Amino acid sequence: MIDIPLNRVVPLGREMDYVRQAVESGFVMGGGPFTERCEKLLQDCLDVPRALLTTSCTDALEMMALLLNLEPGDEVIVPSFTFPSTANAFALRGCVPVFADILPDTLNLDAADVEACITPRTRLIVAMHYAGIPCDMDALHAISTRHGIPMVEDNAHGLFGRHDGRPLGSFGSLASLSFHETKNFSCGEGGALLINDPALIERAEIIREKGTNRLQFMRGEVRKYTWVDFGSSYLPSEMLAAFLFGQLEAHALIQERRRHVWNRYRTELGDWARSHEVQLPFVPESAVPAFHLFHLLFPSPDARLAVETHLRSQGIYAVTHYQPLHLSDMGRRFTGEGRSLPVTESSFNRLLRLPFYTSLDDSAQDRVIAAVRAFSV
Ligand SMILES: *Cc1c(COP(=O)(O)O)cnc(C)c1O
Repeated sequence: MIDIPLNRVVPLGREMDYVRQAVESGFVMGGGPFTERCEKLLQDCLDVPRALLTTSCTDALEMMALLLNLEPGDEVIVPSFTFPSTANAFALRGCVPVFADILPDTLNLDAADVEACITPRTRLIVAMHYAGIPCDMDALHAISTRHGIPMVEDNAHGLFGRHDGRPLGSFGSLASLSFHETKNFSCGEGGALLINDPALIERAEIIREKGTNRLQFMRGEVRKYTWVDFGSSYLPSEMLAAFLFGQLEAHALIQERRRHVWNRYRTELGDWARSHEVQLPFVPESAVPAFHLFHLLFPSPDARLAVETHLRSQGIYAVTHYQPLHLSDMGRRFTGEGRSLPVTESSFNRLLRLPFYTSLDDSAQDRVIAAVRAFSV
């Protein structure tokens, strides 16, 4: 029986009070006071001109494709080592995902390989900050500027992480966040679109509201609202925003807890990792990580599987990810037997994520640490 899961959502602040408040107020559709409070908090903390809550990170990525007017045949450079939505949101509009390789230390986009993927049809570069550890934003920004190709961030892992003192999510013209159950802050299913290019704000509000100017109407800026553009239903309900606000409001406490868990793994597993040739997460000097997950990189897939199985037998749930997108059934439709991505291909199978969540207490974590250390090849 599994008694230490990979992940768990526990209310830590006033989440339940706020949900009750939202329900009792009678305003439960989207766009009410809790939505506004979440958005204002994100804008203030991340120094972005506009944040829009969305129904998921996937939906925020879909909104990017609409906002940037991407068209069938446009090429979008994405890491292969990521969740499918990073590519799917663009594929949905007929774009061709072009998969770039990652660096062996951070497992983030390899800027040199990104540059090698650029063709006359390239329209966008999507950076994803794996585990909440920043990509080399200086190198990616330089490439984006040199080639005149916009960059956006899939920041599902990176909320409250920083590169050179600047919040992740404030680098791309657009960035997405996820509030899925598995992320640092959660309302079950949810997300946000961060808009750093002010020229995109008005249309983003319309796209989120089924292609109508309903938000302008609610602000009293127009007398009636009508269908003015493409759009879909990307606005979460106030019940979800209320729960989320309880989480976001407690961000200092939540991030401090996660930093504690993360640091303990790194300290307590340091000697064991060195003697077993296991690579622990690498944090560049310029980075403040977002403490999203903690992973081990084993010398071989067999060693990873052995530890995974051993932990499972102790009631501890640890998993590997991501199946590289360029090797997936769907990815192959775009790449055929295309070029190989050596670092991605050699890494994913050797990676194990340890249980990691805000409420993981020291004694449960001690059990995980002891079980890992008990393993020797
Ligand atoms: C979780 C995740 C997503 C999808 O988030 P949803 O909110 O579930 O749509 C997208 N990209 C990455 C990198 C993720 O980890």
